[in-house]
Amino acid sequence: MFLVDSHCHLDMLEANGNDLSQILLRAKEQDVKYLLNVCVSLADFPRVLTIAEKHDFISASLGVHPNEQENVSYETLIDLGKHPKVIAIGETGLDYFRSTGNLTWQRDRFREHIHAAITLQKPLIVHTREAQADTIQILKEEQAQTAGGVMHCFTENWEVAKKALDLGFYISFSGIVTFKNATTIQEVASKLPLESMLIETDSPYLAPIPHRGKPNEPAYVKHTAEFIAALRGISLAELAEKTTDNFFTLFKKAARPHV
Ligand SMILES: [Zn+2]
Repeated sequence: MFLVDSHCHLDMLEANGNDLSQILLRAKEQDVKYLLNVCVSLADFPRVLTIAEKHDFISASLGVHPNEQENVSYETLIDLGKHPKVIAIGETGLDYFRSTGNLTWQRDRFREHIHAAITLQKPLIVHTREAQADTIQILKEEQAQTAGGVMHCFTENWEVAKKALDLGFYISFSGIVTFKNATTIQEVASKLPLESMLIETDSPYLAPIPHRGKPNEPAYVKHTAEFIAALRGISLAELAEKTTDNFFTLFKKAARPHV
């Protein structure tokens, strides 16, 4: 059995002055043997891709984060997203917390990402914050279920989780689920069918307990896995096996390592 970190930002960890080879070594020591390196802007994409190209256990995504001020066209997403190391489109979505004013541009850009994901048949990595209703509505309107995807770093309630499940989307938990006051997220993590669950670090952000407040890294996805396994009364091995299977079921273009 091994774990997958379904969402990390290795380029940011490197830019923060970390030795990436040590980070990858520590991940392996904790049985974290596959990583999805997630892109947040076109400006960062070359570095995100370069890291993935150097390792067969790392793949990349392509997308512009909702809070980034950057224009991106459908054509550009298709052109760059064709690369075989790119297995997902995102992170994209809506964030009404950090962006304010008329956010039509954010919704339009989200729709472009969905169109590209459908054309490329690469699943979506969706970020949503204080925008659940519009996020679900746009996913429905644009028939995002034909590409599939994941609601990453899930921080919504069970009602929103059910709507995402109805669209065939997966739900991914970050270290936030381990926080003491995260009772709503813990409720979702205990009720969610295991077949629809992924786990992630979102590193360098959001380190789980016992590393809360410190820089996060892929190795720590194990803490999140252990926490959810305990919450559900199952073994770490079972949780690891299911979430890893789910990852490769969703992201069909990721090559599963033989370990
Ligand atoms: Zn992220």
